[in-house]
Parts: sequence; structure tokens; C-alpha cells
Amino acid sequence: MEGKLRPGIPFPGFPVDDGEIPAHRPLDDPMLLTITTTHRPATDLGYLLHKHPGRVQGYDLSFGKAHVFYPEASEGRCTACLLLDVDPVGIVRGKGSEEGLLDQYVNDRPYVASSFLSVAIAQVYGSALQGRCKDRSELTAVPIPLEARIDVLPVRGGERFLRSVFEPLGYTVEARRHPLDERFPEWGESPYFSVTIARETTLAELLTHLYVLVPVFDNAKHYFVGDDELEKLLAKGGGWLANHPEKDEITRRYLKFRPGLYRQALARLVQEEQPSEASAEDQRPADRAEEVLERPLSLNEQRLGAVLSAIRSSGARRVLDLGCGEGRLLRELLNDRQFDEIVGLDVSIRTLESARDRLKLDRMPEKQAARIKLIHGSLIYRDRRLEGFDAAAVVEVVEHLDLPRLTAFERVLFEFARPGTVVLTTPNREYNVMWENVGTERFRHPDHRFEWTRAEFQSWAEGIAGRFGYAVRFQPIGPVDEAVGAPTQMGVFESV
Ligand code: SAH
Repeated sequence: MEGKLRPGIPFPGFPVDDGEIPAHRPLDDPMLLTITTTHRPATDLGYLLHKHPGRVQGYDLSFGKAHVFYPEASEGRCTACLLLDVDPVGIVRGKGSEEGLLDQYVNDRPYVASSFLSVAIAQVYGSALQGRCKDRSELTAVPIPLEARIDVLPVRGGERFLRSVFEPLGYTVEARRHPLDERFPEWGESPYFSVTIARETTLAELLTHLYVLVPVFDNAKHYFVGDDELEKLLAKGGGWLANHPEKDEITRRYLKFRPGLYRQALARLVQEEQPSEASAEDQRPADRAEEVLERPLSLNEQRLGAVLSAIRSSGARRVLDLGCGEGRLLRELLNDRQFDEIVGLDVSIRTLESARDRLKLDRMPEKQAARIKLIHGSLIYRDRRLEGFDAAAVVEVVEHLDLPRLTAFERVLFEFARPGTVVLTTPNREYNVMWENVGTERFRHPDHRFEWTRAEFQSWAEGIAGRFGYAVRFQPIGPVDEAVGAPTQMGVFESV
């Protein structure tokens, strides 16, 4: 496998220095994160990661596939590999579409590079990242000898920066820089490294460090940077980041494309309890409760990322956000010039007003404002304004509809509005047991009329697909638990 993982380099003589990572990082080369322990019995790693050492396990993520397998699992030494196979074409446009494909394909690559590894850590090793271990909870708090190796990491700033980030956290660092092309050593070095860090620590801490730090080495725009990203950085960074000598540089790189967020993040690291944005106050308490519940998982962020990615890859230009709420998805859609007509619909006028404020629609340049419209309406009545769109997002909405109204909704959307693609998410009820304060009896939000198990959702969605001429595929969002699945389930319908 080693041979396959060589970082491919696009063009001979491509200018490379520490300041620039070529935009053409070959994402078709898998990224690999290998975690090894020599703790005894080393096979405890399987419990800690919630992944059985005897099995190869595959996961569908919004941007490609992840596989977990153990090249070695003995009493004395155990190694788990997370292999990430990013599908850059799928991210940008649905496979098979031609126009502008290469342009987008190349341009979007930097957008997706190493922050995907972080997203994969959160989704595939979510419980371990949270420091949870169902079967051996006593293991989670004990520091054990751990080693993590990443192949292949683009590092802007070179080995010196790499060391200045990991060494203050107590890691020993080994770095091997890859030549630009092994066949032509005279071309010099590439910005790609194989990096090994080792330390005695807990698995949760190691994963947290990787989760926060891997994206800062890249020169690229992150897969997803929103306000929630800030929360994530602060939540996961916590104490160790506040005291890190490179904290300014880490924060700056992490939030590179959002200078406002960068200043906020720094201020908050220094001055712990400073409130973030005014937004928290104008939410209904119930919304806040759901958010607090989900916050440790950054589920919101992952959901938005997955939905956006599915919509983007459908190639849509005209999109609907049905039950748009306060407009978090709308904001991301506006930031992406792929979308030239964006319509948000909600049944609540108050919510629409708050979306208008948050998006600053009144102060937006005319040209930008012309791309977006907020409309008041209900998804259980046929509405001609919804016809003729390429794609529709229905994010965390269906569970707010009374069950008897669901049939009306199905016809309104799939028979009359009939967008080419529908991306629909809803809670996975099975996952509620993972949250102590929800459990099996309750829903996540008092306004939810129902919450479905995976089987219930899938059979509903397949019924729709069959009746209205769509094909549907499913994708978990958030950390996937072997027994109960992921907290959110997504169905992507494409008309056939
Ligand atoms: N999609 C948003 C909001 C989810 S909350 C997000 O992910 O953040 C559910 C939203 O659906 C609320 O804003 C609620 O007002 C809206 N909603 C509930 N019933 C609706 C209906 N019948 N028609 C349109 N919107 C509805």
C-alpha cells in the first residue's frame, strides 16, 4: 500500500515553496491516519476506537469513503488505520456532468484538502474523540503510549512549523518530507510530509489535537468554515490551545478566510466567558436546548457541511431551502457562487425576519441581494413559487410536521415542486440513547412530532422514491455508532 500513497505531483517544475501548497493536491491519493499503541493489552485500542480489530469497516462520508482496518493487533502492539478516499469529483459536481467540470475540480481541490481528515475523525472516531467508551469506560482516562502517523500531510511552513505546533504539547515529532517527484530528485522537495507524533496520553486527547491541528498545516481554504467552526475550535481547543505558544498562528490559519472570526476566537481564548454573537439571545429556549445538547458533537456544522456538499455535487444552480429557519444554510449557499438563485421558505414569519437580519439582506449589495429571496409559506400546501428548481434542502423539518400532514408534504414537494435533487435530513431516533438527557422516551426538541429510526426513515424515503420517480441514497451524519448509527440521517433523492 505504501507505494500507492506517494504524494502525486501535478506538473514537473511546478513552483513550490513553503508559502504555497499547489492547488492540485491529488486527492485521489488516499490520506491515511495510523494510530498505534503498545499499551498492554494493545488490543484495547479496538474498544477505545469502537472498532473491532478483526474487521475492515467502511463508512460513506459526504466527500468520499473512509475505511478502518488493523494491519496489526496483538497483545503487545496494535495499529488502527483510517484511510480516507476523498472523491473530489463527487464533491464538485455529480459524476458524469461535463461542463466546467475540470475548472471546478481543480479550483475546489484546495477547499477540501486536509480538513476532511478532521471531519472523518469526528465522524468515524466520534465517540473516541468525545472520550466515550461503552464497554471499557475506565480505559478512556488513562494515558497510554500512543503514536499517530499521517500520510500525506501538506505542511505550509515546513518542518519547523510542524515541530512548533506538536512539541509544546509534549509530542516527539518525526517528519519525512517527500521529494516533488521520486524519479527526479533535482526538482527538489514537495510540501508533503509523512508525520509521526508520539506521546503518552489519552486517545481522546490525541484525537482532539489531530482534529484541531491537522487543518492548520494546509494552506487551503477549509471544507467548511462557519460560526460553528469557531465554537468547535474553542470547545476542542480549550485549555491547551489558550496556553500554546503558537496559538495566534494556529487560530489565524484555522480561521484564515474569516478575519472577523479570528479576532473573536482570540479574544475568547484570552477572556474565557465573553459571549459570542447576539444570536444566542434571540433564539427560543427550546432551540437553544437542542443546540446545547448537540454542541459537543458539532452536529450542526457537520449537517450543514454534508447538505451543502450534496447540493453542490448535484450541480444545482437554483436552490430551495424549505423550512430555512434562521438561514444558516442560506448563508453558506450565498457564499458559493455556484448558486445563482436561492429561495428560503419558512412557515414562521418571525423566523424569516430573524433570517433577514442575520443575513443582513437589507444592507447587501444589490447584485448579491438579487440572488436570494425569502418567502413565507407552508410545505403542506401546493405552491407554484417552488416549481422549476434544481435542488431543495429540507433540513430538520419533516419531524416538525404532524404525521397526517406528511402525505400532503410529499405531494407538494415531490409531485408538484419536483426539484431534480432533494436533500432531506431528520434525527435518527435510535441515537437518542447516546444522550443521557434524551434517552428512549423523549424527543430532542419539544416541537418534534415524531423521530424516526433508520429503518423507518428509509422505508418512508424509499416509498416516496418509488411513487414519484426518484432514486434515493442514504448517508449518516455525525459520529457513527456501530449499534445505533449516527445522530442525523440524510436522504438524497435524485429524480430519474
Ligand atoms: N432548516 C433549518 C431550520 C430547522 S427547524 C435548520 O436546519 O437550521 C424547522 C423549521 O421548519 C422551523 O424554522 C419551522 O418554522 C419550519 N417549519 C415547520 N413547519 C413548517 C411548514 N409546514 N412549512 C414550512 N416550514 C415549516
